[in-house]
Amino acid sequence: MFLKSENLCKSYKTGDVVTHVLKDVNISIEKGEIAAILGPSGSGKSTFLNIIGGIDRQDSGKVVIDGVEISNMSDKELVEYRRNEVGFIFQFYNLVPNLTVKENIEVAVNISKNPLSIDDVLKAVSMEDKKYRFPRELSGGEQQRVSIARAIVKNPKLLLCDEPTGALDYETSLDILKLIENINKKFKTTILIITHNTALSAMASKIFKLRSGEVADQIENKNVMPAERIEW
Ligand code: ADP
Repeated sequence: MFLKSENLCKSYKTGDVVTHVLKDVNISIEKGEIAAILGPSGSGKSTFLNIIGGIDRQDSGKVVIDGVEISNMSDKELVEYRRNEVGFIFQFYNLVPNLTVKENIEVAVNISKNPLSIDDVLKAVSMEDKKYRFPRELSGGEQQRVSIARAIVKNPKLLLCDEPTGALDYETSLDILKLIENINKKFKTTILIITHNTALSAMASKIFKLRSGEVADQIENKNVMPAERIEW
């Protein structure tokens, strides 16, 4: 098993009120798999993703990634883990506005151990002819391509996608999903997508339904659908 969370719990305290956001979440994903966590807004998806990505910490429970327990790492170890092993794709791209496409990707290259070539990655996302543009000179779909390039240039073992098509129109969303699918094929990257869009989970071989911080259902998808055939 490549990714495993065991009895993962997380709560937030606001004043006197404690909100239990994750309640004994057990999730397992194989190496090279595309998995999806599906759930309505507020169900705990981002909290889970942030703990898996080493951005946040659990209250209790365990997370093992590729045989290494990250849930008991020191802050310093967690930074290294995040830098070297994980790529993030967010709904709103998070590009640095005053850096060009190439420079946005270089930021990731400069902090990673075994980066891929920027030109190869730009080619993989079909942005090689726009590398000197600034984010404001790009469409939403193009910005998301750059953010994907920035995530994969580190050659991460794990790609975490937080509503990757949430801000895009339907056609552009399909392009981005095809791209994510190709990255999985080409680089054998294990991919975890969180979304509230049920249709999108058709491209995942494993689907976890999160409800109020609990895994309400777990589906082995025998008929994985190519991204280009997904409709909503
Ligand atoms: P989702 O990604 O499924 O929309 P989140 O993981 O973002 O869900 O949030 C789950 C719940 O945790 C929500 O009720 C949210 O208000 C609460 N929550 C998230 N982060 C914090 C925080 N830093 N402080 C307090 N409550 C939080």
